[in-house]
Amino acid sequence: MKRSRRIVVLCHCLLNASAIVEGEAAYPGVLEKLLVPLAREGTGIIQLPCPECSFLGLKRWGMTSEQYDTPTFRRHCASILETALDQTEDALANGVDILGIVGVKGSPSCGVLTTCLGFRGGVSGCGQAARRSEGEGIFIRTLREELGKRRLFLPMTEVENGNPETARWEMIRENLAKGRRP
Ligand code: SF4
Repeated sequence: MKRSRRIVVLCHCLLNASAIVEGEAAYPGVLEKLLVPLAREGTGIIQLPCPECSFLGLKRWGMTSEQYDTPTFRRHCASILETALDQTEDALANGVDILGIVGVKGSPSCGVLTTCLGFRGGVSGCGQAARRSEGEGIFIRTLREELGKRRLFLPMTEVENGNPETARWEMIRENLAKGRRP
């Protein structure tokens, strides 16, 4: 079988809804509108680790990028990214075409153009206190910085995982090809 030698880098929960904060998942397992056409065209995947799950676990509540923007969380992000960065660097060095990176719109960690801000989190207030805002999540910012240290650049875009019907692979692929963020 001839391999396509073409891959895309996806944030973790696009392939695993169980990683999403309790009560906020809008699909049962994988984001089908994204994954099915991607698989059919023969594109492979590097799945990034979920920084929030490995930091606070599945019992965590929703927080904002301001709350996650701490030295400890930034160091955690850099640390868990190392394997995926090594794999990405090696793939590029061996002629694999990496289409880019797909993040999660509005996420405090994985937002590419849109994140969320606010100081009061927790069981009784995150929904009211958090607000969407332009900006990168902490994990994506760290990823961009770590790629830069290796002199690597990859286009990035984001999908609305809270609205799975809008996550069309064709549109995402087009955004990545133009090297622009949506
Ligand atoms: S958006 Fe990022 S941090 Fe949030 S669940 Fe998905 S992979 Fe984890």
